[in-house]
Amino acid sequence: MAEHEVKSLDELRSEVEACHACPLHEGRTNVVFGSGNPQARVLIVGEAPGKNEDLQGEPFVGKAGQNLNDLLQLAGLNREDIFIANVLKCRPPGNRDPKPEEIEVCTPFLREQTRTINPEFIVTLGNFATRFILKTEQGITRLHGQVIQRGRFKVLPMYHPAAAIYDRTKMEALREDFATLGKLLAEEALSS
Ligand code: SF4
Repeated sequence: MAEHEVKSLDELRSEVEACHACPLHEGRTNVVFGSGNPQARVLIVGEAPGKNEDLQGEPFVGKAGQNLNDLLQLAGLNREDIFIANVLKCRPPGNRDPKPEEIEVCTPFLREQTRTINPEFIVTLGNFATRFILKTEQGITRLHGQVIQRGRFKVLPMYHPAAAIYDRTKMEALREDFATLGKLLAEEALSS
């Protein structure tokens, strides 16, 4: 069988920008394709664009973005080191949860992005990203902080930063999990 063609991020971005495959395209200001380093060692997968992300066409901007930047520093990373993409590329109205049928039609884009970037680590933020990447029904409370091998990728589920803003216990867990990511990256760099 012929190998699956790996598309460039530019090609994929054009496809996403033209996508009308689910009703979420009707309410979007911008698609949020994802951004960062196309050769990142770490792909971070969030849930879906919020209001600011929809307005700016970028993932994790505003307060959520600052929060994520602070967490990344605990792993010795900044935004230029990683790539961030969401499970859904268009904003669900009122920031409601993604629907299963939206996830089904949109996630081929995320799969292609993962194939193209080919990261060592995939950090899944929150239940929707974790369930999709790991194909599990287990919740994030149980899974966060573990390293789970899936194919050639090491997957680290973590709480979604938005869920941790008003919850000190979750924020502490997130900080620990990002510190763990930093250690793993350093170990992998030494052994390769
Ligand atoms: S959410 Fe995904 S599948 Fe739906 S219109 Fe946007 S890009 Fe297409």
